[in-house]
Amino acid sequence: MTLIEESIERRLLIRDESLAVSVIVPVYNEVESLPHLITEIAKSLTESGLSYEIICVDDGSKDGSAQLLKVEAQKRPDLKAVLLRRNYGQTAAMAAGFYYARSHSIVTLDGDLQNDPADIPLLLAKLAEGYDLVSGWRQKRQDAALTRLLPSKLANLLIGRVTGVKLHDYGCSLKAYRAEVVADMNLYGELHRFLPALAYIEGANITEIPVRHHARRFGQSKYGLGRTFRVVMDLLTIYFMKTFLTRPMHVFGLFGLLSTALGTTLGLYLTFLKLGLGQSIGNRPLLILAVLLVVGGVQLFSFGLLAELLMRTYHESQGRPIYRVREVVGKNVN
Ligand code: UDP
Ligand code: MG
Repeated sequence: MTLIEESIERRLLIRDESLAVSVIVPVYNEVESLPHLITEIAKSLTESGLSYEIICVDDGSKDGSAQLLKVEAQKRPDLKAVLLRRNYGQTAAMAAGFYYARSHSIVTLDGDLQNDPADIPLLLAKLAEGYDLVSGWRQKRQDAALTRLLPSKLANLLIGRVTGVKLHDYGCSLKAYRAEVVADMNLYGELHRFLPALAYIEGANITEIPVRHHARRFGQSKYGLGRTFRVVMDLLTIYFMKTFLTRPMHVFGLFGLLSTALGTTLGLYLTFLKLGLGQSIGNRPLLILAVLLVVGGVQLFSFGLLAELLMRTYHESQGRPIYRVREVVGKNVN
């Protein structure tokens, strides 16, 4: 068993049967929202009679969110604060939350009150119907139309096409998962948006339900238009992983062979012209093309071999987490 497997095993074993849900909130500079958020989550779950823990992961906030969480976590037995050393990004913050969650059901939502904690019991009810992942769908989304809604519409269409998972709203953070689905998932970059796609690749049963969405009341969004570009890049990665991760040689090898073969053919033709017909070929662009094709082809081919080696190392080696925790505060810390 590798280190990662051992750690996953340990985490799955310490699941707490008496906890109905672990609510995970990534937090980056949300100091004004936090008190409202914690109260609202607690209210919604208490009213539904569900036992819960809230795990707020502070992602290196600079506005005092970490201090607030620390104080609150020492007062409230239902709150656990995981404070990361610096700002690692929403994906890493969520991954840290997954690691410390102890319930069999996990719900994630944003720390800015844009998602409504009153929807958590609805997601959990849907999860109990036998799904592995229930995604929220912000039917009436309260964000800027041109800079947020339009790119998001396009991204949703594209993601659906490429990944084969048909959801209306991949960007919605409010989601419910069965813990096993996220326990062995390695998240990098900004891949949290693609959790449904990654889960789907692993064979998870996925559905969505409409959820409420509010405009931001405090603070400001941490993202701008630049995110669209990163989403597209992540999508390419996912597509590659989905199709070729375990067989990179099939892509690079194929193109490498094609390129080498074409280059060689052109080279033979030029050789024939030179030796057979005595023509001069030194000034022909075709010669450059032939050389480029052969060199490029050999490189692609070797790259495919390297990728195969890397892929094997990736799958077989021991990994390390993508975050470093400074400290974990709370009454029920494992
Ligand atoms: N967030 C985070 N680390 C970051 C950026 C954002 O933990 O580097 C958190 C943020 O505090 C919020 C959630 O991720 O709880 C979503 O961020 P935001 O509301 O800015 O995104 P939007 O709703 O505008 O898409
Ligand atoms: Mg938000």
